[in-house]
Amino acid sequence: IERTFSMIKPDATKRNLTGKITAHLEEAGLRVVASKRVHMSLRDAQAFYAEHSERPFFGELTEFMSSGPTVVQVLEGENAIAKNREVMGATNPAEADAGTIRKEYALSLGENSVHGSDAPETAAREIAFWFAERDIA
Ligand code: ATP
Ligand code: MG
Repeated sequence: IERTFSMIKPDATKRNLTGKITAHLEEAGLRVVASKRVHMSLRDAQAFYAEHSERPFFGELTEFMSSGPTVVQVLEGENAIAKNREVMGATNPAEADAGTIRKEYALSLGENSVHGSDAPETAAREIAFWFAERDIA
């Protein structure tokens, strides 16, 4: 059994899509074992996305992620990391497969509704960034 970190981004919380997006994750067999709503500061966003600090879209990304509330979650399941990325769909919604969260809800490459960890090491780091072990059950 594997854990991954998921985030419902401000474009989606703004459109009241938290329940619909969570339902997609649950229907794929992922279990929400921790969840909270947070409005992150710009500094939180810069620290969370530190791996992208040299990318040209870093400013846009961190301003967007701190522009409104997000829902941060820990998901558990068999192959949770890969399964979550499958359910999310391609980063750019124009390239996302039918039935994926991003195909259904994302507005653009930047406002793409969800985030999911891409590897076991990033999942561990991202979970620890937002949750203590006792918050996960
Ligand atoms: P995420 O990490 O959010 O799950 P991802 O792994 O599919 O998405 P990354 O390459 O890690 O994509 O990029 C992180 C986020 O940065 C993307 O989800 C997207 O919102 C944003 N992003 C990526 N490329 C661009 C771009 N060219 N312009 C604006 N925003 C971008
Ligand atoms: Mg990524």
